[in-house]
Amino acid sequence: MSARRTVVLLGASGSVGSSVLNLLRKQSDKFCLLGFSVHRNVEMATAIAAEFRPTYCAVSGLGESDFPRHLSLKFLPLCELAAIAEADCVAIAIGGIAALDPLMAAIGAGKCIILANKESIVSAGPIVGDALLKSKATLLPADSEHCGIFQCMRGDGGFRGLFRRTETVRHVWLTASGGPFFDAEGDRLNDVKPAEALRHPTWSMGAKISVDSATLANKGLEVIEAGFLYGLSPEEISVVIHRRSLVHALVEFCDGSLLAQMSQASMEIPLSYCLSYPDRAAAPEKAFNPVDSGPLEFQYPNRKSFPCLALAESAFRNGLSATCAFDGANCAAVEAFMREEVPFGAIPMAIGHVLHNLPPQRLSDIESAKECHCEAKRKAAEFLGRRFSI
Ligand code: NDP
Ligand code: MG
Repeated sequence: MSARRTVVLLGASGSVGSSVLNLLRKQSDKFCLLGFSVHRNVEMATAIAAEFRPTYCAVSGLGESDFPRHLSLKFLPLCELAAIAEADCVAIAIGGIAALDPLMAAIGAGKCIILANKESIVSAGPIVGDALLKSKATLLPADSEHCGIFQCMRGDGGFRGLFRRTETVRHVWLTASGGPFFDAEGDRLNDVKPAEALRHPTWSMGAKISVDSATLANKGLEVIEAGFLYGLSPEEISVVIHRRSLVHALVEFCDGSLLAQMSQASMEIPLSYCLSYPDRAAAPEKAFNPVDSGPLEFQYPNRKSFPCLALAESAFRNGLSATCAFDGANCAAVEAFMREEVPFGAIPMAIGHVLHNLPPQRLSDIESAKECHCEAKRKAAEFLGRRFSI
């Protein structure tokens, strides 16, 4: 039997983290958990340590002393764990811009990286890309649409890897479920509560991305993510609503062929693809029967009801400091909405305010990207505080 691949899982206590752990359970003959990180979730960390017996752990939001001693884990700083020599593969399932430093550390160490996190690419994509192209690291996009694009492009002779343009690709279509408020009319959207926004119709996900799906900011982030990852311009990417979440991405090639990636809506499928890359692991789950599935329908999104999408596209046209600011402003606004301090409609208002008031700047390294993100967050929080008397 060949040796099992060693996996480091960052953000193990989250929704994507749980899907990765499920795959490690199902494919324990192929993979073993070498190390993992949580931010503050001691309970999950204790359960993971007891079940998978990993050697290393990183805790970013608490101290080592908050953990039961009997677990016999070796604690490491997050970026050290991301770059650890013994790991064959580093899966990054941390939410938000906190994933950026460990991502850069893993790239610096030449790792095979499975990246679910999108905020790091939206906030620093070209900087990440430069570092990746200079290193021996491999990056595998696990966000389902981007993994779908990757699978469609990989079969094409013109595909030269991420952060480069594939000349034979003419257009990419990203699908969106439309979220829980797809057919909500006019003012109704202003009064929705966090609990309603968290009820996603087809995917089960963490809180922040669920709210992002409800505003369509998630699809906006994904347009930017796809643009940076695949060297596409904003005009070459379209978003379509596909309520069933069975088709994840469509790639149009220069000869008029359109390839689609389809599967059930489960993060385990793209994550398993990345874990086993360049092979495919057998899984008991079936795809879907194209006759029984019923019609696969697509329509354009309602940009008036969901302004976050157009805001993201406009930020993408304006370059990296604008996409970074989009992410920072959205992050601050979603946090305020989740605390029930501001209404749902305040999220695009805050993003619009920040994009309008933050002058463009050249972001040439990770530190300047983090500063820009921080400034956008601060400006959004200040705007919301004034506007809603928080
Ligand atoms: P969750 O909120 O469920 O999990 C987030 C994880 O990150 C947790 O392990 C959390 O630890 C950790 N974390 C939070 N804050 C920090 C921090 N400051 N420093 C280090 N670690 C931190 O998120 P999801 O799993 O839903 O999403 C993770 C990423 O994957 C996001 O970027 C999301 O956009 C992307 N993604 C998610 C999909 C999904 O289906 N959920 C699909 C496609 C992409 P703790 O629990 O201890 O707080
Ligand atoms: Mg996605």
